[in-house]
Amino acid sequence: MANKQESRIMKVLPRTEFGNPILRAVAKNVPLKILRTSSFKNLIRQMFYTMRRTKGVGLAAPQIGESLQLAVLQMKKHPRLPDTPPLPPTVIVNPRIVSASKEKVMEWEGCLSCRGIMGSVPRHQNIVVEYFDENGKKQRKEIKGFHARIFQHEIDHLNGVVYVDRMPDMKYLFTKNEILKLRKKQQAAEIKKK
Ligand code: ZN
Repeated sequence: MANKQESRIMKVLPRTEFGNPILRAVAKNVPLKILRTSSFKNLIRQMFYTMRRTKGVGLAAPQIGESLQLAVLQMKKHPRLPDTPPLPPTVIVNPRIVSASKEKVMEWEGCLSCRGIMGSVPRHQNIVVEYFDENGKKQRKEIKGFHARIFQHEIDHLNGVVYVDRMPDMKYLFTKNEILKLRKKQQAAEIKKK
């Protein structure tokens, strides 16, 4: 965890990448009494900063080398997902998925721990999740659609699971460049149809 001297400087934290054993370990439970400490608050600030600067929508503590049941999430309005509302900045501590819809949806997913590639991953459409927020208050929420996908991706990170583990077909592991080409092709086909 960052020390006090570092607390005033915002910096993009170095990230762990696929292959690092911390991404394959179950992260440690966060003792709730540390939520009030300045070093923990600073860690959360730095994680949000890192996530925004690297254009992510979620960042789990193991991705910055901290084995803690902690993740930050935030999504702004996305042009490709017009029906998905923005997700306000959210801190989840010691989260647990308590129930999940049977229905799953496929969608492209990437990860800050493995830049440049994306995979098509099935995720539960809706989940009910319990967690503690940054103030130590217990939350229980139903999360739907793409937000549910972000929660599942980040909670997986806290349990040593990465998205490629969830992929039923590795043929749908693409580089971002190839996905862009695919989307252009699909758009052109749609224009032709009209
Ligand atoms: Zn990830």
